[in-house]
Amino acid sequence: MNYKSTRDSSLNVTSAQAIAQGISADGGLFIPESIPQITMDELKTLAGMSYKERANAVFAKFLTDFTADEIEYCTSGAYNTKNFDSENIAELTQAFGNAHILELWHGPTCAFKDMALQILPYLLTTSLKKNGEDKKVVILVATSGDTGKAALEGFKDVPGTEIMVFYPDHGVSSMQKRQMATQEGANVGVCAIEGNFDDCQNGVKMIFTDNAVKEKLAKNGKMFSSANSINWGRLAPQIIYYVSAYVELAKRGDISFGDTVNVVVPTGNFGNILAAYYAKNMGVPIGKLICASNINKVLTDFIETGVYDRNRDFFATVSPSMDILISSNLERLLYILTGGDDAQIRDWFGKLSKDGKYEVTDEIKAKLQADFVGGFCDDADTKKTIHDFKEKFGYTCDTHTAVAVKVYNDYIAKTGDTTKTIIASTASPYKFSASVLEAIEGAQSAADEYEQVAHLAEVSGLPIPQSLAALKDKAVRFSEVIEKQNMEAYVLNKLGITE
Ligand SMILES: *Cc1c(COP(=O)(O)O)cnc(C)c1O
Repeated sequence: MNYKSTRDSSLNVTSAQAIAQGISADGGLFIPESIPQITMDELKTLAGMSYKERANAVFAKFLTDFTADEIEYCTSGAYNTKNFDSENIAELTQAFGNAHILELWHGPTCAFKDMALQILPYLLTTSLKKNGEDKKVVILVATSGDTGKAALEGFKDVPGTEIMVFYPDHGVSSMQKRQMATQEGANVGVCAIEGNFDDCQNGVKMIFTDNAVKEKLAKNGKMFSSANSINWGRLAPQIIYYVSAYVELAKRGDISFGDTVNVVVPTGNFGNILAAYYAKNMGVPIGKLICASNINKVLTDFIETGVYDRNRDFFATVSPSMDILISSNLERLLYILTGGDDAQIRDWFGKLSKDGKYEVTDEIKAKLQADFVGGFCDDADTKKTIHDFKEKFGYTCDTHTAVAVKVYNDYIAKTGDTTKTIIASTASPYKFSASVLEAIEGAQSAADEYEQVAHLAEVSGLPIPQSLAALKDKAVRFSEVIEKQNMEAYVLNKLGITE
């Protein structure tokens, strides 16, 4: 299995090269040259396996340049009960009507980003070794919340790596800030920026593309890499939980092998739902892929009209991890739907960066609508859904998952579809305690984040994630706030590079 670029089909690299490089030099995303198949017999065999063993089987199809031992090294380092508070790694709830909730937040930072960021450091360091690269890797991350903490936990104390995370001083929640400020590990750095998320991201990009800095690092035996969501090493691990959830439902007798299931995903950058599309096209019997957006509904409009238009107001919502107007991973889907037409992709994504807008052909729109259903929900409906779902089923979900639940409810009201459905749940409600409590109780709480967590425990009956509870007694290690123009100096200073 080799990898091409969505903007250059003639490119041909191994998975180890794709993962180490992160993004193709032509600006495109790395993509497998074909989608490997999984048979019903193979799925039946997976039913008797652990999550880690299922991961080995799926990775073996995509990372064909990795040996079985290398894959096992990666999966056993990531998918274990030291890192996840569930032996199943991802938990599938009982049925609520025809839907099951797939809880993807049992990892160390309580958001689904852990499913990929726990294993990415292993995939990346193994890839570097396979490529004969002996430099130490320095990971730079700009974050508005979830990704930074998940990347820190993933790369903490991983030999041969260092990680530095930049976040906007006034742009993250108090729980998110505390999660990052108390980060443990000898190879981590966290720094707040006097500015917004764009300042952090621009600062990181400037450091990445500064050749003088690159040379300084090389002289000191180091190189930069990235842990952002366009890296294939973050997408591949997400395919596994859809395969695993299907066989789990069949194993439990909720469906029979061969039955079709629908999947609903609260979507931002289109990574998570693209992983479900991959699972479907590998041969997992998945019917509709329901793409749920908050009021930043650029994807809902795209699926309906075939026009992608980011020229619109940006709204800050109670589901902040989905507040995004450029869904990068859509480029991979369109590459597949056009049959690998790299010229077409260059045209559309050229227009996106120039005019903020492109329109696909009627043929592509029809293909898109054959697989995907789009829907959206505003903050008031998000909160009402948390409230009503709790009342009806006694289950408390977070603000992102609630968007998916609401869009699913709208879909069944419209279609009467009774297909068994998997709803991806992307964060623990404890990560957004204030909004969740407000939804359930109808009033804003003045309490601090720990009082809110304690109160949510009473209200929801859910155990408080150990990693969040433990924060209270952890010392703050990082409190530095710097001006955005000092980011480069901060990085070099941290790395002990003086010239
Ligand atoms: C990142 C994130 C999302 C969006 O996932 P994409 O793969 O970017 O579509 C949804 N919910 C939560 C809680 C997230 O952290």
